[in-house]
Amino acid sequence: MRLLIAMMKHETNTFSPVPTDLARFRDWALIEGDAVPAVFAGTNHPLAAYLDLAREAGAEIATPIAAEAMPSGPVHADAYEFLTGRILDALSGGGFDGVLLDLHGAMVAEGEPDGEGSLLARMRAIAPDLPIAVTCDLHANVSARMVDNCTVLVGYKTYPHVDMYDAGAQAGRILLRALAGEAAPVMTWGQTPLLAQTLCMGTADEPMGSLQEATREAERAGALAATLFGGFPLADIPDAGVSAVVVADGDRALAEHARDRLLNAAWEAREGFVYRGEPLAKAVARAKEMTEGPVILLDHADNVGSGGTQDCMSVIAEVLKQGLENVAVAAVWDPQAVAAMAEAGVGAEITLDLGGKTDMPAIGLKGTPLRVAGRVRTLSDGRWIVRGPMYTGVEVDTGPSGVLEVGGMRVIVISKHHEPWDMGIMTSLGIDPRHCRYLLLKSRIHYRAGFAPLAKATITCDGTGVTTSDNALLDFKNVRRPIFPLGRNA
Ligand SMILES: [Zn+2]
Repeated sequence: MRLLIAMMKHETNTFSPVPTDLARFRDWALIEGDAVPAVFAGTNHPLAAYLDLAREAGAEIATPIAAEAMPSGPVHADAYEFLTGRILDALSGGGFDGVLLDLHGAMVAEGEPDGEGSLLARMRAIAPDLPIAVTCDLHANVSARMVDNCTVLVGYKTYPHVDMYDAGAQAGRILLRALAGEAAPVMTWGQTPLLAQTLCMGTADEPMGSLQEATREAERAGALAATLFGGFPLADIPDAGVSAVVVADGDRALAEHARDRLLNAAWEAREGFVYRGEPLAKAVARAKEMTEGPVILLDHADNVGSGGTQDCMSVIAEVLKQGLENVAVAAVWDPQAVAAMAEAGVGAEITLDLGGKTDMPAIGLKGTPLRVAGRVRTLSDGRWIVRGPMYTGVEVDTGPSGVLEVGGMRVIVISKHHEPWDMGIMTSLGIDPRHCRYLLLKSRIHYRAGFAPLAKATITCDGTGVTTSDNALLDFKNVRRPIFPLGRNA
């Protein structure tokens, strides 16, 4: 048996000014050919599960590419052609019995709103009958074209995504059973007109907790795989929003019934997917009253893990203004500031314009730096290994990094965008988050993987940025209509 195994992942925020070229993929992961297994084996990735299954089955494998970039703006056309070209070229070589793909499901390329659907359609054009298994992120904006052009599609059931390996194992096993003639997968898909807020999709919360439990219930009742996708709402494309995919063993009616139950339940719970915030100054004042730490201050409108520029300073400025003490910030993206800190050296006092280097035309804002005076506490090369439950075992590289102490705040400054979902971002720079009163995190839900066990409370702070949870700040032109809650007052 010969299997083609590949990974191509990007969650595209069409409102984000952060460019997505091949260099951005290289910053996180762009591995080619025979180097792929060594990098991903043993990690908590669908790809790692595929490699394990192939080995157990004694299959020969081809691994043309494994690529992932942190969320940002539309993927540049040449980068998209490069990544898909690697997979299509390998497929064109022929001789495969099946394909195992680790995709995101919310990739938008320049001129192609359905990055995964286009890839899969082109694969099917080359090899019309070849079985293809796909894993997608819980935030996938799944299209009909994606489902029409693969055999099995399975998504994550957790957010933070701590079941990435499990999803790969599930998809891969179904495909291998199909290849062995032990299963006959049939797949159904559907959408409900709901643009859910990412901030309301945590699976430790309601309604997402119960909705994901319903997918497990569908599997106990006979489905081979049932997924309810929350979708990714910061994508102005027709297929943005909630969808469901159910795979059954030959029984289409069972799959359709389970799909409809999931979609109806999501629609019934729609009010729970609308974020309702409070003024920033009020949120920070509320945090200041809390006596027991660490308290998470969640700067969710500048969540780099959803395409944020990671250099919006509004929440940091408000926290400094209100004088909160013993605050650790993870992290501000500002390569220029890190360079200035490195030049000054550890222990030096320095005044600089921190953050605010990126304009955000989609929301009508210019980058606004914050003038700060502080002391350089730590400098590092920004490399560390994830020990927590999400992306376990993966090496992170935030580029030249450092800690700047400004009043009662220690600000981690980095040179490559990175969402703080693991304590390593702090411990690698000499900050013990357990001993901080406040942890100001540019994250949304993924911080929970590494930081929730420490947190006494979480305060959502509505700052500025292109990952805002307020639809009114975004100009949607292409998303399908009607869709709740857009235009609910119209
Ligand atoms: Zn996700």
